Amino acid sequence: MSLVKQQHEHAKQFLASGVSSSTRVNQAIGHAMLFQRAEGCRVWDLDGRELIDLCTSHGATLLGHGDARLRSAVEAALARGAACSYESQLHAELAELLCRSIACLELLRFTGSGTEATMHCLRLARAFTGRQKILRFEGNFHGYHDQVMWSAQGELGQFNPPLKPISTGVTAGLDQLLVQVPYNRSDLVEEAFRRFGHELAAAICEPIYYNTGCVLPTTEFMATLRRLTAQHGSLLVFDEVLSAFRMGIGGAQQYLGVTPDLCTLGKAVGGGYPLSVFGGRRDIMQRLMPEGDCQHSGTYNGHPVVVAAGLAAVQAYREPGFYQHIQSIAEQLYGGLRTLFARHGLRVRVQGLGARFGMYFGMPPDEPVTSYADAQRHDKSLLMRFYAAANRHGVYFHDYGGAPCHHGFCAAMQPADVAEALARLDKAAAEIAS
Ligand code: PMP
Repeated sequence: MSLVKQQHEHAKQFLASGVSSSTRVNQAIGHAMLFQRAEGCRVWDLDGRELIDLCTSHGATLLGHGDARLRSAVEAALARGAACSYESQLHAELAELLCRSIACLELLRFTGSGTEATMHCLRLARAFTGRQKILRFEGNFHGYHDQVMWSAQGELGQFNPPLKPISTGVTAGLDQLLVQVPYNRSDLVEEAFRRFGHELAAAICEPIYYNTGCVLPTTEFMATLRRLTAQHGSLLVFDEVLSAFRMGIGGAQQYLGVTPDLCTLGKAVGGGYPLSVFGGRRDIMQRLMPEGDCQHSGTYNGHPVVVAAGLAAVQAYREPGFYQHIQSIAEQLYGGLRTLFARHGLRVRVQGLGARFGMYFGMPPDEPVTSYADAQRHDKSLLMRFYAAANRHGVYFHDYGGAPCHHGFCAAMQPADVAEALARLDKAAAEIAS
């Protein structure tokens, strides 16, 4: 048995399912990615197999693994004693840099994960508006807290359908505080505000819907959301945990030209260290204690090591040429994938923006996927076979339970790495096509 499999079995004796995060088990390969070391765009597993990483820590390590700039920033923070639960000059320095980079940010707070960021954002939206209900979009993912872990019970694509919890143990009744509408349906957003506008504290969405691969919002959908939230005194919240820094320093809000009232940042903001952010309009953020009346605290919020890492990461994203490089790697990789799938007669739709992308197996390559319901029509078993074949040939894709989801590359990836990844994937595609 390989060392990876042995270690996974060993870990299971002490660690539930052998992992620290349920989604870490990659069902296409039957275990978690157990790594020995990682560098740039590559990971070496416990058996010493080298893989080109197209998961990139679910989008956190946008600079690549083991980036030297992050490492020296972290080492310097450790050398200063890493006094956790105090503030330092770096906290304000990073906050200022983020406020100068992202349009909606006038004031912000640091927290530890994307889940915490959306949870605090929604509490703050309720505190500010004095309302309880939240408008959310079918399939959009906002983390693992009870308020957002709900999905449609029955047929997809419906207006405000009955919801079911995504996990057992979720606090019953919280679905009563949600109004759910399919993504990209401006007409149903209108309907939601007509019926519930005076009760809606916020509308929360993924401004680029990467959690079902990569679905872009229509201009009309975004304009409707912005207009109606403003008209009804509800807050527009962009969950930019995945989209921030992906296609430009200003995130999805810059790309779309739509400024929300509040946003969350996660993953790439810490460059692979557990940092997240929520922030936005000054008058809303001033509701946080102790100036205001809404609680947001935590021992590890703004831990000095992760703030140092975040500062180094954001400074790197602001370097001249950073996004030109991301753009050219994106074109080479996504174009290359389209060509190789076509060469093997595989029907796969590839959609990408900036450093993250989705692949929809069994779907027409030329027809855009525009919603969660649309994406669910993909061929799950072909997808899983592709992930497994890619893994055997040296490319790591993470599997999210067979759902079409996001993959991505890091800035350390060079044209030669893309060519190598495509050559390996060509063999994987040949295998599943035969
Ligand atoms: N929001 C979005 C849009 C996400 O993609 C994720 C994680 N994939 C989260 C929130 C939750 O972030 P975390 O895993 O850091 O809690």
